[in-house]
Parts: sequence; C-alpha cells; structure tokens
Amino acid sequence: MSTADTRISPLKMRQAQFRRAIHHMGHLKRGVVDFFLRPKRTLSVCFPVEMDDGSVRVFHGYRTLHSTILGPGKGGIRYHPKVTAREVEALATLMTWKCALIRVPFGGAKGGVACDAKALSEGELRRITRRYVAELGDNIGPHTDIPAPDLYTNQQTMAWVYDTYQALHPGENNLPVVTGKPLDLGGAEGRSEATGHGAISALARYLELHPLDGHRTLAGCSVAVQGFGEVGRVAAERCAELGARVIAISDSSGGILARDGLDLAAVRQHKAACGRVDGLAGTTTIDNETLLTLDCDVLIPAALANQIHAGNAADVRARVVVEGANAPLTPQADRILQERGIPVLPDILANSGGVVVSYYEWVQNLKNESWTRAENLARLDARMQDATAGVVGRRDTLLAEHRDRQRPPDLRTAALAIAIERLSRVTLERGIWP
Ligand code: GLU
Repeated sequence: MSTADTRISPLKMRQAQFRRAIHHMGHLKRGVVDFFLRPKRTLSVCFPVEMDDGSVRVFHGYRTLHSTILGPGKGGIRYHPKVTAREVEALATLMTWKCALIRVPFGGAKGGVACDAKALSEGELRRITRRYVAELGDNIGPHTDIPAPDLYTNQQTMAWVYDTYQALHPGENNLPVVTGKPLDLGGAEGRSEATGHGAISALARYLELHPLDGHRTLAGCSVAVQGFGEVGRVAAERCAELGARVIAISDSSGGILARDGLDLAAVRQHKAACGRVDGLAGTTTIDNETLLTLDCDVLIPAALANQIHAGNAADVRARVVVEGANAPLTPQADRILQERGIPVLPDILANSGGVVVSYYEWVQNLKNESWTRAENLARLDARMQDATAGVVGRRDTLLAEHRDRQRPPDLRTAALAIAIERLSRVTLERGIWP
C-alpha cells in the first residue's frame, strides 16, 4: 500500500528535513545555508544503445554535483526504471550531508540511468555504462566527481566505468576516478560489505548508549530486514554474527519469517539457486508489508525509498529502526515514529559506511597501497561509532535547549545539524568567491 506522502518529491523531502534542522540552529548565516539547498549542477544526457536483438533504444541518464565545499563530488550511480533528475538531485544532496557528517573530504554527487537492470543482458548493461560515462566526459574525474555503486550497479559496472574513463584519459593513474571496483582493479577489501557493516556498527554503538530493556548489545535481539541486496544481506549477517536473531528478511519478490531465527547461509544458497528468498524450507512466506510491521526489536529497511509511510508507520512494532537504504521513511512516517517513541537511525548516518570505505579505496588508489579487509573494517567501525556517539550527544544537547512548541529534535535533525554546521564553517573559512 502507498499513500499520498510516498509521492512527495525526494528533493522537497530533503529540503524539509534541512529546514527542520536549521530551525534549531539560529546562529547560521542565512545565505550560506540557502547555498546548500540547491545542487551546483545537474547534467542530463540522452543516448542510443544497440540492444542484443539488433534494435536501438534511447536511454536517459543524469549526474548531479551538489556541493564541492569539502572536496570533489562523491556518490553512486543507480540503474532503476524510476530514476529521474529530481531523485538524483535529492540523493546528491544527501551525499553532501553524509560526507560532511562522517568526515570524509568529499562533496555530494549522484548519478543514474533510467533502465531496468534486471531485464538487461550483461552486454547491454556494459554498452549502457560505457556510453553513459562517455557522455559525462570530463564532468567526472579523480579530483572532480567520483562515482561508486548504488542501486542495481556493482563492481562489474564500476570496472566498466573505470575502463571507459581510462580509454579516454590514457597515461594517467585513473584508478581513483571510481570506487567500489573489483579487488583486482584497485577495489578496497571490505568495500562491498561496508554499507551493511557500517549500519550495524552504528546500531551497536547506539544500543550501548540507549539500551533496549537492558540490552546493551545486539545479542538476543530480534531483527527484521527488508532487502537482501548488498546492504540488507550484510546487515543481517552482521547482526547474526553479533548474536542477534534475524527473524525475517525479504527481497523484491517477497519475504520469509522464522521466529526462532533464519539460517542465513541457507537463505543465501536458496536465493542463489532460485533467484528469490521465499520458498525456503522451514520458513513462512510473508509479504514486504508484513515484514515492516513485525513485532521485533530492530527493523532495518534496506531496500527502496518510501517503504514506511503515513499508511503503515502506526503499525510498525519494532523498538528501533535503522535506515539501511536511502530515504526508506517518508517525513510523515518519521514524525509518526517519533511521536510513538521509536528512534530512527537516519540514512545520513546509518548507511554512510559505503562512502567511508570508498574514501579508503580512493586514498589507497592515489597512494598505490592496499590495506587489508580487517584494517578497512576496523577503521570503518571506529568512524561509525564516533559519528553515532556524536549524533546522539548532539541530539541530547538540542533537546536540552529545545524550548518552543515545535517538534523536538530527533537523531536525523542532530545528524543534519552537525553536517550543516561543518559545511557552513568550511564555506566561510574558504571565503565566498570572489
Ligand atoms: N551509493 C552509496 C551511497 O549512497 C555509496 C556512495 C560512494 O561510495 O561514493 O552512499
């Protein structure tokens, strides 16, 4: 079921969140803050691709550079039928805040091609990628705008991005032009699991600070995860490693439930064999809607945007929600959960692990180094935990200062406040040009 609030423009939603945070930050210089509301530029490209059957199809692609205040643009490329310029702009905006909050020296960017990756062959995806990257030309580069994987793109896609850029810029170290590459091509160990891993580091730290009925760790907690892609699967596996019981998981075809805990290795094998998670022996088939309203300790929506909305937020029975995906909650859902006292670890914090290890990959590519998986993930853990403690601390300070009748600040507002303050400070330090 979807409701009117799921049709909110993603950009408007980000701007509304931004304004909420600004409300708690009277000291900021006005014009500077306005500067962060709009993207610096959006490129829109349209190109033909020859399909396997010999026909020709036209594709539309976008790349937004939202801000370069903290460094070159950074952000993924997504392949999805619903990609639009507005969506890409909203996601680029989120990347600016994410990078500022998690303290990586990048600005925000995002790209996408409107296409159904699941219905395309490998050859078609390769031709779409090469042509899209060629169309972007010098608007991406190791020191200007650095893509990475996102929805329905992966290491293979990033290898084609690199190869195409390299063909157009021979004789240079172009490895840092894109992150999330295969390991043999300068990819960072641990990058593919970084977003899911990072989400659980943030959750673990949050539980230390705010125990759930005396639970200071994930041990014994029940967890439901929406999504079995790179983020959902890894988040589920990490929860299980830390002693939690993952009771439900889903993919785009549907979900499965086992109250005593799922055998995640069996889920993985079943998915590999059948292409879907449902139908696994010993589990009950449920739909995505049921998964979101299960009685559990932790709910991790790690699939698409707008999954929890005005129509189902009142039915959510989890004790804490972790935004593994970008924007899985609508602003109305956010408000309803806040009123019901269910904390939400916001996307800007919870799914920033990917860009953190992307940063490590970029640094290693520039220095021709290769760190171990343990090193990358240990650094990631420390950064996620610090950022989480920072956001919780900031929320507590904002709450103590909160005097008016407006809605009290939540974790999202606190995370944004930290990011916006850093961006404004650096903008003024650099000086408005000329
Ligand atoms: N697509 C990921 C995100 O939304 C990663 C971006 C990156 O690594 O640059 O955060």
